[in-house]
Amino acid sequence: MERLSTQCVIAGGGPAGLICGYLLALGGVDVIVLEKHKDFLRDFRGDTIHPSTLELIGELGLLEKFLSRPHDEVREVTAEIGDERFVAGDFTKLPTRCKFMVQMPQWEFLDFIAQEAKKVSTFHLFMEAEVTELLARSRRIMGVRVKTPDNQGDISANLVIGADGRHSTVRARAKLAVEDIGAPFDVLWMRLPAKSGDPHEPVARIVAGGLFIMLNRRDYWQCAMVIPKGGFEILKAEGLAGFHQRLRALAGFAAGRVETITNFDEVKLLTVAIDRLKRWSRPGLLCIGDAAHAMSPVGGVGINLAIQDAVAAANILAPILQTRIATPRELARVQRRREFPTKLTQWVQVQIQNRLLAPTMRAQTTPKPPALLRLLNRWRWLRRWPARFVGIGVRPEHVSAAILRRGSSAPS
Ligand SMILES: Cc1cc2nc3c(=O)[nH]c(=O)nc-3n(C[C@H](O)[C@H](O)[C@H](O)COP(=O)(O)OP(=O)(O)OC[C@H]3O[C@@H](n4cnc5c(N)ncnc54)[C@H](O)[C@@H]3O)c2cc1C
Repeated sequence: MERLSTQCVIAGGGPAGLICGYLLALGGVDVIVLEKHKDFLRDFRGDTIHPSTLELIGELGLLEKFLSRPHDEVREVTAEIGDERFVAGDFTKLPTRCKFMVQMPQWEFLDFIAQEAKKVSTFHLFMEAEVTELLARSRRIMGVRVKTPDNQGDISANLVIGADGRHSTVRARAKLAVEDIGAPFDVLWMRLPAKSGDPHEPVARIVAGGLFIMLNRRDYWQCAMVIPKGGFEILKAEGLAGFHQRLRALAGFAAGRVETITNFDEVKLLTVAIDRLKRWSRPGLLCIGDAAHAMSPVGGVGINLAIQDAVAAANILAPILQTRIATPRELARVQRRREFPTKLTQWVQVQIQNRLLAPTMRAQTTPKPPALLRLLNRWRWLRRWPARFVGIGVRPEHVSAAILRRGSSAPS
């Protein structure tokens, strides 16, 4: 990799980077995707594949193949407050071909997209390739500097896309101004053993002083404990016995299994951020996904938004990049298309975190269920709206006819 050149280089092989790279390649653009890790097998990433993403996979003609990978289908969103269970969302009425959300470890999803993308001759994926610097001439970004385990090299490109997540190197090096919206909580991830007879669906439990989310990974439960920002050090100072006691109060049917956590090294802290760039692009560079707008885990919609950005970027830019460099105005079209859905979704996340999560974490007793939750539980037809917000989102994107047409005749 001493010196390479391509039409588009993408930093980050997460949902945004891989989908954008795949669609651009299908659209006839030569693309290099750079992922700093050696595989996708990182734990503690979101596991949700939304109906809107399944729709896109269907548009690409890959739905049957995708659903042959191990997964669970979630048709309802439920919440437990104290001992009461509420159904808050119903995916079965969505106007999509899949009327469910797929629960699948993210490495399976990323691996699937990477395998399909590699069949397109203009798609190239380099693992263990970390973008460290941007290359610029005058005020235009011309490429990236990349570090691999063996060496370092430069890749020049007509366009650099930053899809390198919440701690984006690309956006920092590009000096794009960030508006920090802030999140008052962090998340601790841990595993608890699964047993036969356990429920299959994800579980969200709200009790005095805490919120606990459990995702069924078949062999084990992937659990997320929501804590006040900076609270992990306090929990560690209380010791493991105190931590077990808190977990027992939160874990419901799995309360008897909390002693399987024998060390704080088995508990991973994920800091939560909500922010967004004021401008997503500058000449020669565009940010998408969490690099453009870090999403909170609230509602489990960050992957969806990242993928929708990727589709919008590919739809707008593929026809241009095939033949020439995109102008600043053309790059700004991606932000114009995706900024409203981003702002609205973040606004909803902030309302939930400030009005529901923050008081819940402060509360000494289990909070009363909000009136809205009671309404949703009572009136089935109302439940399609939260499901639509989570499952489809605002302004859903579709793969453009131009990309699909070119993709069907693309050499592989
Ligand atoms: C605790 C937590 C739980 C969440 N749970 C959910 C959920 O259940 N459902 C949901 O929809 N959303 C969830 N989210 C949000 C979701 O994870 C993100 O919004 C989504 O992953 C963004 O996708 P992305 O492709 O933009 O970035 P990422 O998924 O962060 O991918 C970025 C990629 O870039 C790579 N990278 C980073 N730096 C470099 C570099 N310099 N060079 C090369 N590669 C680099 C990273 O290794 C990574 O693979 C959660 C977020 C948090 C914090």
